[in-house]
Amino acid sequence: MNREGFWFVSDVLNHIYCPWITYNWYVLGMPQSKKQEALVKKTKKHPERGIGGIKNARVVGQKYVRSYTLMLAGICDYVVFIDNKPAPLELKDAWMPKGKPWKNHLIQLACYSIMLGEEMGCIVDTGYIHYLRDGLTQKIEIEDPVKDYIISVIRDMDSTIENEIVRGRPISWRCCVDCCYRKICAGYGGTP
Ligand code: SF4
Repeated sequence: MNREGFWFVSDVLNHIYCPWITYNWYVLGMPQSKKQEALVKKTKKHPERGIGGIKNARVVGQKYVRSYTLMLAGICDYVVFIDNKPAPLELKDAWMPKGKPWKNHLIQLACYSIMLGEEMGCIVDTGYIHYLRDGLTQKIEIEDPVKDYIISVIRDMDSTIENEIVRGRPISWRCCVDCCYRKICAGYGGTP
């Protein structure tokens, strides 16, 4: 969360991974370790290797976007305009999956599509992921159920800090083993 009270997209990903992270960070006031934040920055640091596969597109890089409705903010790697319609494009240091995109990538893209739509006053229902390992770009439809899911996650994040109550648990208890909060977390290994 930034100083103005906007959630980061990474907060949404963290909350989906484990809602206790939101509690530990923003209720108890203990940020995640620097080591984990550094890793996130490292994977985003390849912006100049090109964006393939999107023809006739106008591109804006590093666009700061916000949703005042959800109090969500982030910097989209690129916004592409195809026939004047905006769509988010994220770079990933990964190979393109054979089928659907990875859930985390889809969630990120959907967050940016919600914010872009609100800022530009239109519905953004398409996004792109450019995979740096193989130079391929995947076009992804961002459907309403995904956006609704993100809205419900953010509402739960709001409730966590307002009511100081955690609902839910990590996606797997194995997450606790490597977690930077494992020594202090009330949720470690099982909700009381
Ligand atoms: S220790 Fe486990 S329950 Fe606590 S924040 Fe980490 S992953 Fe979540």
